[in-house]
Amino acid sequence: MASVSKYVRNQQRQKLVKEKEHLLKDSKKKLANACKRSQYIKIIENINNKLKATNLSADQIKNLKHELNIYEKKVNEIPELSYSEIWNLQFEMNKIGKELCRTRVRNRCSIPTCARPRGILTRFGLCRNHVREFACKGELPGNIYKVSW
Ligand SMILES: [Zn+2]
Repeated sequence: MASVSKYVRNQQRQKLVKEKEHLLKDSKKKLANACKRSQYIKIIENINNKLKATNLSADQIKNLKHELNIYEKKVNEIPELSYSEIWNLQFEMNKIGKELCRTRVRNRCSIPTCARPRGILTRFGLCRNHVREFACKGELPGNIYKVSW
């Protein structure tokens, strides 16, 4: 049945995502930090250029130097990455590929012959039809009431 193969594929994908997700998170964080670092360095350059101007009041100079201190601290907190390291990180992320993107995992009913993609109750991991079926038989744990108004 088609739905069974979909169910199996979905399960495999979920497993892979769980295994490799932390790798993706780490490399994403590192890349984002590298971006931030280059931005801060640009800002520092800008401030230095402003400081070179002669017609500045004492207050302006004070403020600019205060800003400089803040950004230099931020830059020092982030470890430096060489270009080759950034390349390697991007290469790894490409290898992991879009198949393992979390958003491509679809919640499905955990009854293999059903595998309904919509109307899932995440608390039970079942579709609405099966929740109703099992709840009526009393096979779901906990106090489950039928709501009507
Ligand atoms: Zn179902």
